[in-house]
Amino acid sequence: MGRFDGRVAVVTGAARGIGFGTAVRFAEEGASVAIVDLDEAAAVDAAGRLPLVEGARAVGIGCDVSDAAAVDAAVARTVAELGGLHILVNNAGITRDNLLFKMSELDWDLVMNVHLKGAFLMTKAAQAHFVEQKYGKVVCLSSVSALGNRGQANYSAAKMGIQGFVRTLGIELGRYGVNANAVAPGFIASEMTDATATRVGMSVEDFRAAAADRNPVKRVGFPEDIAAAVAFLCSDESSYITGQTIYVDGGAKLVS
Ligand code: NAP
Repeated sequence: MGRFDGRVAVVTGAARGIGFGTAVRFAEEGASVAIVDLDEAAAVDAAGRLPLVEGARAVGIGCDVSDAAAVDAAVARTVAELGGLHILVNNAGITRDNLLFKMSELDWDLVMNVHLKGAFLMTKAAQAHFVEQKYGKVVCLSSVSALGNRGQANYSAAKMGIQGFVRTLGIELGRYGVNANAVAPGFIASEMTDATATRVGMSVEDFRAAAADRNPVKRVGFPEDIAAAVAFLCSDESSYITGQTIYVDGGAKLVS
C-alpha cells in the first residue's frame, strides 16, 4: 500500500527537474498526478513517463501559473479528469539573475509573478476543494537563496516571500484540515543550475563539483532528495507540521 493511494496531486513546473522527480515519487506511491507546465507537449510527455500504479492516472496540462484564468482551468481540469484534488506542489520557477543596479523591472516582475503570484493563484484555486473536503496538503518550493544570495535580489525576495506565504496559509487553513509547508533546496542538479553554470562560464561538471565542495555532505543534491522531503510533507505522517520551511541542502547553510 502506498502513502498516496487514492490521492490526486498537482505539481507545477513538473515537465522536468525537481517537479518531475516529485511527480515520479507521488506516482510510485500510488497517486494520480497532474503535471502542470508552460509547455503542454512537454507536460503530456512527462505525464506519459510516470510510473503509475494500477488504477492511477496522469494528465499533462499546459498552464502559465501566473495567469489566473489558466490556473483556474488547470485545477478544474485536474478535478474533472483525475476525480479530485488532495495535494498541491507549487514548484514552477525561473531565475533572472543580475546585480541590483543592472536588474530590470521586467526581470523583477517575471520572477515575482512565477514564484509568488503563481503560488498564490494555484493555492487559491486548490483551497476551495481542500476546505470543502476538509483535507489538503500544500508544499511550496523556497530556496537557500531566501537567506540572501548575490545577484538574486528578485529570486531571494520571492523565495523568502514563499516562507511567509506558507506560515500564513498554516494559520488560516489549519482548522480545515489543510497543511502548508515549504521545502528550501540547496544546490540541486537540474537544468536550472546547469543554465547558471553556462551563465557564469563554467562547465556543468566543475560547477557541480564546486557546489559539492561547499557543503558538509560533499555532494550536490538531486531531484529525488527534494521529492523525498515533499512527499513526507504531503503524507499523513506530517499532519502535525504546518507553516514550516525545511532546508534540504546537505547542510550548506550551516557552513556559509
Ligand atoms: P527547472 O529545471 O528550470 O524546471 C522548472 C520548470 O518550471 C520548467 O519545466 C519550466 O518550464 C516551468 N515553468 C517556468 N515558468 C513557469 C510558469 N510560469 N508556469 C508553469 N511552469 C513554469 O527548475 P528546477 O531546478 O527543477 O527548480 C524547481 C523549483 O525548485 C523552482 O521553484 C526553483 O526555484 C526551486 N529551487 C531549485 C534549486 C536548484 O538548485 N535547482 C534550488 C532551490 C530552489 P519551461 O522549461 O517551459 O520554462
